Amino acid sequence: MMKKIVILGSTGSIGTQTLEVVRNHPDMNIIGLSCGSNIDLLEKQIREFKPLYAVVDNLTAANDLALRIKDCNTKVTSGMNGLCELAACKESDTLVTAVVGMLGLRPTIAAIREHKTICLANKETLVTAGHLIMPMVKENNVSLFPVDSEHSAIFQCLQGNQQNEIERILLTASGGPFLGKTKNQLIGVSVEETLKHPNWSMGRKISVDSATMVNKGLEVIEAMWLFGVTQDQIQVVIHPQSIVHSMVEFTDGAVIAQLGTPDMKLPIQYALTYPVRRQMSNQKLDFYQMKKLEFREPNMETSKGLQLAFKAIQMGGNAPTIYNAANEVAVEKFLNRELDFLSISDQIELALLNCKKRKEPSVDEILDTQLEVIEYMNRLR
Ligand code: NDP
Ligand code: MG
Repeated sequence: MMKKIVILGSTGSIGTQTLEVVRNHPDMNIIGLSCGSNIDLLEKQIREFKPLYAVVDNLTAANDLALRIKDCNTKVTSGMNGLCELAACKESDTLVTAVVGMLGLRPTIAAIREHKTICLANKETLVTAGHLIMPMVKENNVSLFPVDSEHSAIFQCLQGNQQNEIERILLTASGGPFLGKTKNQLIGVSVEETLKHPNWSMGRKISVDSATMVNKGLEVIEAMWLFGVTQDQIQVVIHPQSIVHSMVEFTDGAVIAQLGTPDMKLPIQYALTYPVRRQMSNQKLDFYQMKKLEFREPNMETSKGLQLAFKAIQMGGNAPTIYNAANEVAVEKFLNRELDFLSISDQIELALLNCKKRKEPSVDEILDTQLEVIEYMNRLR
């Protein structure tokens, strides 16, 4: 059967890799694509994949694109309304959420309500609204497949084991570009050094998140929602080689792991073809060449970004939203060279202390929290 796919964020790291996967499968059809502002790349994608719809966040850029592709049959819209309509459009059956940040929330909800299969890369959606999304997924009898490599790994380890209780999830982390550095050595590190991830090539925001360990913090929260475990059941394990993508320990002590080369196309493809595995032209593991696989405990002194996630989980309510929104602003400041690296987690901590708390926040309250946090963060130096 033809898979009819919409990609939110098709010009980004996950978006372009999703299109690489789609290119290799004649039974996958692109219905809609979207971007923030990169209409040069979006135009190329439209000419190749001929989608029915395209959404550009910025109205001027959307108008510009519409002019450029006058000869195509693709309808162009803009903004959050455009994104929500695209996510829920009747011609599609599958949504790949590859936008970055909290803007994935409303479109994901719109797609769940229209019973689309969700391939979720946008972890911020579950971090801020897992308490709303997971019941909605169940109610609408929708499949939600993780694309994040660790969560895809956990999901793969659970196949055939659904009836067994999880004892622990062992969530692996590469440790990022600054693994082994002391706090003093992190003073004044540059944007360029921070973006240089040793194993993965990713978008700018998640690369910074990886260096601060906030990415792992977000992933702990994401795993709690996806797999229904408590924070005590998740152990973060530093694994610098990024070969073991995560593991599940069962009650009898058996540990099942998923291994592979660091390549996001595998989790993307698995989410799109589940439960079937298909041929991939990716690099395969060579166990004769593999020198070593190391595992160790995170360094508490330099993992404040991760510790704060545990604090946000304990606080509950909208605290994970505060954690996430404060991080989004702090990372943007860092990328604009307005904030130094170590201050990212310091400012998240301040936001967690000082921003308004809410229990069981609705979608509107989550988005209100985001606005309050942005305002608070912009007042901080
Ligand atoms: P990128 O920054 O590479 O891409 C983000 C995408 O979102 C781009 O297509 C961008 O468009 C689009 N976008 C930005 N702003 C808007 C907007 N206002 N409206 C519509 N679209 C917008 O991010 P990644 O691909 O790295 O990450 C995407 C998500 O996947 C994140 O949540 C990340 O945490 C998660 N993830 C990523 C992994 C990776 O390997 N990259 C691994 C695991 C999870 P434009 O190009 O025009 O700016
Ligand atoms: Mg990940």
